[in-house]
Amino acid sequence: MQQSHMLINGEEVASSSGRVEIIRNPANQQPVAEVAVGTRQDARLALQAAKKAFPIWSATPSLKRADLLHEAARLVRERAEEIARLLTLEMGKPLKNAKMEVLSSADVLDFYAEEGRRNFGEWISSSHSRSIVLRQPVGVAALITPWNFPVDLLAWKVAPALAAGCTFVAKPPSLAPLAATEFVRAVCEAGLPAGAANVVHGPGGIVGAELVENPISRKIAFTGETQTGRWIMAHAAAHIKRVSLELGGQSPFIVCPDADIEAAAASAAQRAFSNMGQICISVNRIYVAQEVAEQFTELLISCAERLKIGDGLQPDVDLGPMFSRKQRERTREHVADAIEKGAELLTGGREPEGKAFEKGYFFRPTVLGEADHSMRVMREETFGPVAPIMKFKTLEEAIALANDSEYGLAAYVFTNDLKTALRAAEGLEAGGVGINVNSVVDLQAPLGWRKESGLGRELGHHGLDAYLETKHIRLGM
Ligand code: NDP
Repeated sequence: MQQSHMLINGEEVASSSGRVEIIRNPANQQPVAEVAVGTRQDARLALQAAKKAFPIWSATPSLKRADLLHEAARLVRERAEEIARLLTLEMGKPLKNAKMEVLSSADVLDFYAEEGRRNFGEWISSSHSRSIVLRQPVGVAALITPWNFPVDLLAWKVAPALAAGCTFVAKPPSLAPLAATEFVRAVCEAGLPAGAANVVHGPGGIVGAELVENPISRKIAFTGETQTGRWIMAHAAAHIKRVSLELGGQSPFIVCPDADIEAAAASAAQRAFSNMGQICISVNRIYVAQEVAEQFTELLISCAERLKIGDGLQPDVDLGPMFSRKQRERTREHVADAIEKGAELLTGGREPEGKAFEKGYFFRPTVLGEADHSMRVMREETFGPVAPIMKFKTLEEAIALANDSEYGLAAYVFTNDLKTALRAAEGLEAGGVGINVNSVVDLQAPLGWRKESGLGRELGHHGLDAYLETKHIRLGM
């Protein structure tokens, strides 16, 4: 069986405890690889390696850093098939989506190679002095990521951290660490100094906690659940560390009466069901103007029923299994709770039938009608393939319903009226608003959330700022 070690100080390292864990394919429970289960001691060694490498990497000219990041992107593209296959095996998503994720991570490396070259300062003339403003790397960064996009979400952190001159220790998710580790391996092999890029495996509550609590790390970049983010923010406070948090969500999707209903239904279906709904920007609550609700609902059901489910390695599947038993149980509970409180099950709501689905965590894309805010599916993050629909009468009502949530992640509006689009976009309490599109992710634009969905921004030039400190040098004249 394949073995995945940690990467510390440029070397493959087994756990100091000698423990390993078997990673299993969520489509059929077959073992995929054996992974080292790291310890606090391993995390400390990795942090020390990153600390030792920091003066070397931060002093490397940004043009040289850019060359190395471009080379890393080239290596990731060269190994895309192999990394994507691991991603499908450990996490379940269809191979074509896994490949897109890996290729997109190479684009992120290229983008920040160039952004790092534009880390300019300022020159300010005052009457008796001159001021130089520098932007310097914050130090060692701890990068902690979840399992739903284990390569891309890590690339969003690795690339700007390195471009800014930071060294890092990454902690991928315990149950899907393989592709992320191969991604960092390719980055290391581009020619980085030993210790600039490290990966530790192991439980978040132990290895991740050490990365957060140890004074060596000066920046924590985290994507995961709101509850974990809260813990990280509180513990990072002990050393006044900088934190970026991309957390849970409950994204609303508003369909106005003047919208292109076919496009709205296709978009909603894609964003509610792709990756089995296990995407932070997934569509979680659909609010439809009552006059178009019937037409929209019929189209959404037909989109859901057309999607082909199966083992992610099959070439023609649209949806793989869910990631874990826990994810599927939560989805089932949310659907049952909604039905008990009066929702109408319009399609899905259970596993697909047949021998091919017996051992995996499969679940059919589900559409619920007559949803309301008493239901868990409208208030909590399901992180599963469920699209609940609620009707509205006025735009003001739809915006108020959309904002009635502790989360403030993405929001979507479908309309052909510019004033409606702007009124909704300005009124929605979200970090990103998509108008007639079903994603707010664009490598060149800032991504980040409001309320209990997070803090800080990734992507765009804003993503680089997250790894830089501002220094003022004042020169007396
Ligand atoms: P978790 O918060 O459980 O875990 C995320 C990472 O944090 C894992 O590597 C985990 O390790 C680690 N971790 C757990 N506890 C600690 C701790 N005390 N200290 C440090 N690290 C810790 O999230 P999931 O993996 O379940 O991912 C799903 C969640 O991610 C969803 O809520 C989703 O909304 C969110 N997400 C948010 C995105 C955004 O941009 N807002 C994007 C994608 C996902 P281990 O695996 O060992 O538990």
